[in-house]
Amino acid sequence: MITVALGAARKNGITYFFFPQWEKYKFINHGFSSRSGGVSKGPFASLNLGYSGGDVPGAVNENRRRFLEIFGQKLDSLVCGEQVHGTRVHLVEKSFYFASKDQGRVIPATDALITAEPGVVLGALSADCLISFFLDPVTPAIGLAHAGWRGTCSGILAGVVKSMCRFFGSKAEQLEVFMAPCIGGSCYEVGGEVLDFCAGSLWVEDIVFLPGKTPDHPFLDLQKTNFNILKRMGIQPGKIYGNKCCTCCNQHLFYSYRGIKGRSTGRQMGIIFLR
Ligand SMILES: [Zn+2]
Repeated sequence: MITVALGAARKNGITYFFFPQWEKYKFINHGFSSRSGGVSKGPFASLNLGYSGGDVPGAVNENRRRFLEIFGQKLDSLVCGEQVHGTRVHLVEKSFYFASKDQGRVIPATDALITAEPGVVLGALSADCLISFFLDPVTPAIGLAHAGWRGTCSGILAGVVKSMCRFFGSKAEQLEVFMAPCIGGSCYEVGGEVLDFCAGSLWVEDIVFLPGKTPDHPFLDLQKTNFNILKRMGIQPGKIYGNKCCTCCNQHLFYSYRGIKGRSTGRQMGIIFLR
């Protein structure tokens, strides 16, 4: 895994992040939001892009509008998965996309989206979970996956690789993956339910635990675990990019479910699209 420094930019009062190595690809655009520059209040302050925490929907819509505007996109360009901590990967096709023009375009029971259609904006939400951006620069085609411990240890990122190979004819060795800021390996303590689940996982050998503060409560490293899974799927280690920015340690920048101890909070969003 290559550890990279995030690119940061500020437009329309919004700070957002990006992966500098992809700026050379003029046929895509992507970004990852921070929590600044929106209209939400209280625990959602201020650029909350998710409806699920209990924020005022009108505020979320305005925040989404502001964030998407930075990329020259509108609310009705966005498609997200329902995000149920599953492993389902959905191919977003043009026919579906143009048949359902509304801001609530959500693919049920889905945590990962792939497409080769220009103009389709893939979005994923998180508050500690890992959002991974996939690019096949040859086809070209893109993917976006949401993964917490359950999705990670169920191999959802492997599912994205398989789906891109199957639907687009992508070669694993030409894929590039960028992992956005998520909860870091030193902050993500897990317990019995996770350990039991991991013990039965097909990917058990790839799961990276670090010693915890108390017995039977190790830390789970989402980025290193997903790196191992991607490598096993044939992605070149030098084309898998992570970073050291922990959402829990940087709550001035990001929403963190763990950081706020499970209380209501907002969501940041990653988006990617082919131009
Ligand atoms: Zn941390």
